[in-house]
Amino acid sequence: MSATDAAARREELVALYKEVSKCTKCPLHETRTKAVFGAGNADADLMFVGEAPGAEEDRQGLPFVGRAGQLLNELLVEIGLSREDVFICNVLKSRPPNNRDPQPTEIAACEPYLFEQVRLIEPRVVCTLGNFATKLLTGNQTGITRVRGTPQTHELGGRPVHLLPLFHPAAALRTPAVKEQLRGDFATIPALLAQALPEPMPSAAEIAAETAVEDEEPPPPADQLGFFGGPDGG
Ligand code: SF4
Repeated sequence: MSATDAAARREELVALYKEVSKCTKCPLHETRTKAVFGAGNADADLMFVGEAPGAEEDRQGLPFVGRAGQLLNELLVEIGLSREDVFICNVLKSRPPNNRDPQPTEIAACEPYLFEQVRLIEPRVVCTLGNFATKLLTGNQTGITRVRGTPQTHELGGRPVHLLPLFHPAAALRTPAVKEQLRGDFATIPALLAQALPEPMPSAAEIAAETAVEDEEPPPPADQLGFFGGPDGG
């Protein structure tokens, strides 16, 4: 990707940030202090997607600034990275009151911002943190305990990416065993970043066209054309 392309994508990301800052598309704008767009490298290869801002994030307008954020920083350092190398955001950009679960209508209103962020940042690896982000971005309702640590391939923001489901750092803070599993899963990120990007997946239209061709009767071999009464058939 050329520097000009990266600069243009960054500019669009800034415009999106301004839009999110004054968004009123769902009722959460009435109770938030600040919208939390996300932060980090606008051209990052590695992106993290959490659930929603908490109290401290809501106050500061920044993602993962509390204890869960500190753990995330620690785990990044252990694999030779820092916050400046990655982009971190959430599915919801405004805090649900009392940290209650995001509602389906709120996710539906907010998710276009997330997909636009992925399209503009062009990450190679997207790590989903916890159940909400994982279920939304994989399109699968299997719980995080069963899918964490195993990379998947998905098309996000119009491009194929490696998707790695991870436990949410807040869950890791509550349970030492979960923290160790999260640490082990983090250790697999550098190898995933080094892997070639998955091949673009065929669109639904392409799959349908291919299936239609397979279902068609094969044309008769050329030497049978005469037999079927072609121009020279007689
Ligand atoms: S949660 Fe998303 S859709 Fe709802 S007000 Fe905040 S930015 Fe807008």
